[in-house]
Amino acid sequence: MADEEWSLADFEIGKVIGEGKFGKVYLAREKQSGYVVALKVIFKEKLKKYRFHAHLRREIEIQHSLDHPNVLRLFAWFHDQTRIFLVLEYAARGELYKMLKSLHHFSEKRVATYVASLASALVYCHKKHVIHRDIKPENLLLDVDGRLKIADFGWAAELQAHVKRQTMCGTIDYLAPEMVEKKAHDQSVDNWTLGILCYEFLYGFPPFEAEDQHDTFRRILKVDVVFPSSPYISPEAKHLISKLLVKDSSKRLSPQKILTHPWIVENADPSGCCKQ
Ligand code: AMP
Repeated sequence: MADEEWSLADFEIGKVIGEGKFGKVYLAREKQSGYVVALKVIFKEKLKKYRFHAHLRREIEIQHSLDHPNVLRLFAWFHDQTRIFLVLEYAARGELYKMLKSLHHFSEKRVATYVASLASALVYCHKKHVIHRDIKPENLLLDVDGRLKIADFGWAAELQAHVKRQTMCGTIDYLAPEMVEKKAHDQSVDNWTLGILCYEFLYGFPPFEAEDQHDTFRRILKVDVVFPSSPYISPEAKHLISKLLVKDSSKRLSPQKILTHPWIVENADPSGCCKQ
């Protein structure tokens, strides 16, 4: 699958824009076209140490096959003796998580725009039988126009239609009840996560946060959602959250239905961009 025609010599390498577990991410420019990309460098030695080969292969295969405005593009990849290079779409505004931490919480219009972007990406991914399973603010990047991009497909699974998966994965605050209970799960885990993110974007913290991991698990299983009185959040936004945080996975609102929910229709910016 590697685009053999690419090599490091095709790129001018710029500053470091991030650092992951397996290596650095650089700003880079493809010499012939002048196109700016993010070049992720992964050291093969580190992959070996963490037995991560299968994981990376899955991430590459899935991300390379996806082409949607809210999914970070993986244009190409190549390798040399010691490193693997991923040529990625450059998300100039970086991590959504950092913005959430600095603003504490977002306006309803901004949240509706992000939730609509995520729902639109999930409609696309689920149609291709890809479930992400690890959607969280750290895995969401913003491009130069403030458009949301889902990145990091390391945990994603390609789901054969109607076959349920049984691996425990993901960050605990975002886990759906069926994952906490280690039951089989399907794409509706991503719908649950959208409810968690919608809440977290509006209030600044996820709904089942607790000091202790067991308390978080317990609150998830009880679907113990509390809406604080401040900041003021409209009943329509709370309605959407309560239609996503539903224990019975078959009763959760699907991404298609999220897109037609009155709160989304009224508040989401159709361009998907949040510039300011
Ligand atoms: P990762 O190894 O994927 O966890 O990436 C490490 C950090 O690099 C991320 O947290 C981002 O801040 C940054 N980063 C990764 N990919 C991109 C990208 N395509 N555009 C901009 N920043 C990125």
